[in-house]
Amino acid sequence: EGGAREGEEWIFLSSKDANLMDMGETQAVFLKHQPTHVIHLAAMVGGLFKNMRANLDFWRNNIYINDNVLQAAHEVDAVRVVSCLSTCIFPDKTTYPINETMIHNGPPHESNFGYSYAKRMIDVHNRCVGQRGRCYTAVIPTNVFGPHDNFNIEDGHVLPGLIHKAYIAQKEGSPLVVWGSGTPRRQFIYSLDLARLFLWVLREYPEVDPIILSVGEEEEVSIKEAAEGVVEALGFKGQVTYDRTKADGQFKKTASNAKLLRYRPNFTFTPFKQALKETCDWFVANYDTARK
Ligand code: GDP
Repeated sequence: EGGAREGEEWIFLSSKDANLMDMGETQAVFLKHQPTHVIHLAAMVGGLFKNMRANLDFWRNNIYINDNVLQAAHEVDAVRVVSCLSTCIFPDKTTYPINETMIHNGPPHESNFGYSYAKRMIDVHNRCVGQRGRCYTAVIPTNVFGPHDNFNIEDGHVLPGLIHKAYIAQKEGSPLVVWGSGTPRRQFIYSLDLARLFLWVLREYPEVDPIILSVGEEEEVSIKEAAEGVVEALGFKGQVTYDRTKADGQFKKTASNAKLLRYRPNFTFTPFKQALKETCDWFVANYDTARK
């Protein structure tokens, strides 16, 4: 699944190429490139704390982006679009493990309801456009991390945030402050593993129904364990403290990867420790230019 295969031409677009909030600009960029297959990653995203501050923006921006992209793809006859959901969009009150059939079963966690409802509508859109013969689908990754992440402490997700905070704490000889109690649990997926799975979904996954891309339930770790992993990977020598005045967010969102394993029984995930080490090494080596 490494790179472009014979007959494939890959085109990478960023927010500099078009404002996807604008239907005219979105149509223009799709007309220019006439893609047959689309990986749709564009979104307004952020960690728990940015979500709590900006539900209205998360809702509106994502609704516009997704409607424009999916409609523009349909208009240029793209045969396949793979969009990106997240396990945080599932109902807050649920049974575990969560699976693909549960997306619309109840309200999402209140911290990120704007983002969650906007993302759920991608599944609705896919099913509607499926009635017009399109096989547009979505993947549902758990918490993603890796090189080139957004390492911004206020807006980013937990691992890049902790890596950045530990890096600074090491330099200043101050404690690493983990937000919340450290007890919430998360499944983390390495961005390079996720990229491989995205390509497989784009080329071969036959369903409109979404698929969870996750490590197994037994690989779930607490935020405390994740912080200890960052400490080890960076060789952080200072003290680790927990700021319990900060929110914990969802306690857990344990997802089942049974469907993935049915399709890809032999897929091997990069071990968490190794992936975390590679990410920390990348951050240290690229500190000046990293997004933060
Ligand atoms: P979530 O998985 O959608 O909730 O998003 P995050 O990746 O932001 O993870 C949030 C969890 O990590 C919560 O339990 C936070 O309390 C905890 N956490 C601990 N330290 C940090 C930090 O520095 N940044 C963030 N974003 N979360 C942190």
